[in-house]
Amino acid sequence: MIKIPIKVLLVDDEKDFVEMLSLRLKGAGQKVTLAYNGKECLEILAQKDMDVVILDIKTADMDGIEVLREIKRKFPLVEVIMLTGHETTESALEGMKLGAFDYLLKPADFDVLIRKLEAARKRKEEHEERIRKAEAKFLLRKSGGIF
Ligand SMILES: [Mg+2]
Repeated sequence: MIKIPIKVLLVDDEKDFVEMLSLRLKGAGQKVTLAYNGKECLEILAQKDMDVVILDIKTADMDGIEVLREIKRKFPLVEVIMLTGHETTESALEGMKLGAFDYLLKPADFDVLIRKLEAARKRKEEHEERIRKAEAKFLLRKSGGIF
């Protein structure tokens, strides 16, 4: 079976951390783009098609929750996994209520991260498939088909 890479946008202001995680994700066959702050994250999403954003709650320029709100407002189909430390777990929960797919406590276990990424991508694909079906039905109805 051919494995299609997950298009991951990794957002964190801790440069060493993102670069190391990026190498591991690439090693695991995923397609990774890096952003070091919220502004960069939103700029990249406006230009590139992404499946999942791994978003640190603490980024240099914006509160992670604000970045999440902007992602969900402008790119609602992109799934978001929040990265959090113990001191920001409540923010991660708030993030999930605002539409984040899940959260991970730092330091995140790599296998757990991969599983969550795969689950997030699957949800995005299923969502997109339902939209395609709804569009097809709509077109059929418009063209005078039955339903
Ligand atoms: Mg950070």
